[in-house]
Amino acid sequence: MKISIDELRNLPQGRLNISFREEIEGLAAVKPVLGELTVSASAAGMRLTGSVQTLLKLTCHRCLRPYFLSLSVPIEEDFVESDIGNEFELPRERELLARDFTEPLSEDGVLDITDVVYQAVTLATPVSCFCGESCPGPAFPGGVAESGSLAGGKDASEGATRIDPRWKNLKTLFPKEETD
Ligand SMILES: [Zn+2]
Repeated sequence: MKISIDELRNLPQGRLNISFREEIEGLAAVKPVLGELTVSASAAGMRLTGSVQTLLKLTCHRCLRPYFLSLSVPIEEDFVESDIGNEFELPRERELLARDFTEPLSEDGVLDITDVVYQAVTLATPVSCFCGESCPGPAFPGGVAESGSLAGGKDASEGATRIDPRWKNLKTLFPKEETD
């Protein structure tokens, strides 16, 4: 879904409420992305706000089983027309702040809302996937070494089973002290 700044400014209140519903390729989503979005014309360009929901199918990095994660992503972004957003007039600190939340609007003045939603869902998709408290743990105890992201879980399970020899010595020391 796309909207141009000209279209938007011609609307009675310069704003449009959108019931977003699209199947977006390239996401781990197993359902269409749904949401209520509002796009409004601002002095500098346009503003997109609202939130979208979807259901992701992910693979747990620990037990390697698929699991579902329902995701709700807030969207609040400003898109500034290139000829208006003159950053050099802004003081330095404000420039940084403004850049965090604004993006340039493409030169033809068209905002690709689908792309904004795609980016937002991608950013909200966890990098390290963990199926939850009931995770049965590594499928192959002792080493599921396929990708670097598994390292965390592997270390944790090793820590539980292997004891550093130096700590073993301490363990045999302490009971003696306690009984003395
Ligand atoms: Zn798991």
